[in-house]
Amino acid sequence: MTEHTLTVAGVAVDTRHWIGGRRVASAETFTDVSPIDGSVIGEISRGTALEAAAAVAAAKAAFPAWAATSRAERARILHAVADGVEKRIEELSIVETTDNGALLRSHRRGVMPRVAHNFRFFADWLLKLEHEDFETRGHTNHVSWDPAGPSVLITPWNAPLMLATWKVAPALAAGNTVVLKPAEWSPLTASLLADIAAEAGLPAGVLNVVQGYGSEVGDALTSHPDVRRISFTGSVPTARRIAESAAGNLTPLSLELGGKSPLLVFADADLDLAVDLAVEQYDNAGQVCLAATRFLVEESVAEEFTRRFVEKAATLTQGDPRHETTDIGPNIHPRQLEKIDAFVQRALAAGARAVIGGHRKDTQYYAPTLLTDVAQDSEIVQEEVFGPVLTLQTFSTEEEAVRLANDTRFGLAATLATADAERAERVTAQLVAGTVWVNCFFVRDLQAPFGGSRHSGVGREGGTWSFDFYCDVKNTVTAPNGWKNHG
Ligand code: NAD
Repeated sequence: MTEHTLTVAGVAVDTRHWIGGRRVASAETFTDVSPIDGSVIGEISRGTALEAAAAVAAAKAAFPAWAATSRAERARILHAVADGVEKRIEELSIVETTDNGALLRSHRRGVMPRVAHNFRFFADWLLKLEHEDFETRGHTNHVSWDPAGPSVLITPWNAPLMLATWKVAPALAAGNTVVLKPAEWSPLTASLLADIAAEAGLPAGVLNVVQGYGSEVGDALTSHPDVRRISFTGSVPTARRIAESAAGNLTPLSLELGGKSPLLVFADADLDLAVDLAVEQYDNAGQVCLAATRFLVEESVAEEFTRRFVEKAATLTQGDPRHETTDIGPNIHPRQLEKIDAFVQRALAAGARAVIGGHRKDTQYYAPTLLTDVAQDSEIVQEEVFGPVLTLQTFSTEEEAVRLANDTRFGLAATLATADAERAERVTAQLVAGTVWVNCFFVRDLQAPFGGSRHSGVGREGGTWSFDFYCDVKNTVTAPNGWKNHG
């Protein structure tokens, strides 16, 4: 324990950066606050361009040896990281819940096991990553995945460790070294990950963690000429700034951004299923990029759907995310709550009607809200709120449903409820979305491509798509008798 150690719900967390296998403090700190009750958790090192440059230098120095490490050894170490995560699931869960307010039971049972799985999956995928050799007029083509180099990974607060490791695991598997910059509203589990990785035997400098405000460390990381990849999950305005900053070096970017995804409910759907899918959209207090926040319901069943939705939503318990019976926790920060409420109040002023909610409960919690009487071109239908705020519109034909579904600048996901397989196929083919769920929601497999169209992102993550991004893919063409005249 040092003066830089916090005890968070009984767990020791180092508040400094992790650079080149050492803890490094900054001269200044920022205050980390728990969304559960607004209490101060502690002071965290506030990185500057200096620490950003040191972290990139450490990643650059560690790169040649890590890139040359055999696939089998890299995979072994990633499995050891997964073991470390599994051993500390309880600690990671309570620290994450304290830091970002998402449900403790979800962290324990779903999210943290999934964090371990991220490492195992990409370790195993690496071992079977192949491209069959092929011939061109007797020449052999051989495709290889060469590690690209130091990678900067920048992540948001809504699922901190899950989203960070979704990038860290494939980047490390690919043979890249990493500088991770977690969000300033949820910095703690990234620090624990550094401990776990070091204990698992990951060499110094292969994973570095820099804490701080994006506006202060971000540019130094994303404009650095030694950085070979930038993977970012977060909002559209930040993505624009990062793209500008990366442009000088033409650093390849992967961008996972926001959404305004639709849930289309056709009259032929199993309405109980449709309502279950709809109520799920309040998960994580609505702070889910993939959330289907726009309900588009066929006119003939809209009244019945709304009645059943209201009934079901009333059974949800909102409160302390550490309690087993809680369904909806707090929002991340009073500032986020203000933003959410401002969206809702503007919508109400523009003529929307709150079927439920429409107001904050206190400084940390927002009442689950459903708004109707909203126009397609209104702000509340077009912009991502990132809170427990859903809208409901009706349609009368399939064409209209597709038109409304596609009529935003986003294209992350879409969910359909219908009993008609042909309709599902027809509608899916017309939807602009990286993922379409038919009669289900949030079923995710790391083999599958994940990402968004339009302003929801650039590129895809998952399986081979992740390796395509983190590697410099090389094709080697060897002549027929290539060795004959060359000794
Ligand atoms: P944000 O863009 O404000 O911040 C994300 C990260 O970027 C943070 O770590 C922040 O410190 C950093 N950052 C800020 N300015 C920066 C700069 N100039 N240079 C470099 N880094 C900078 O986003 P947020 O509010 O933390 O997250 C919410 C957003 O993330 C929502 O829009 C949500 O939809 C999106 N999101 C998308 C996905 C996805 O997979 N598509 C997943 C989760 C969240």
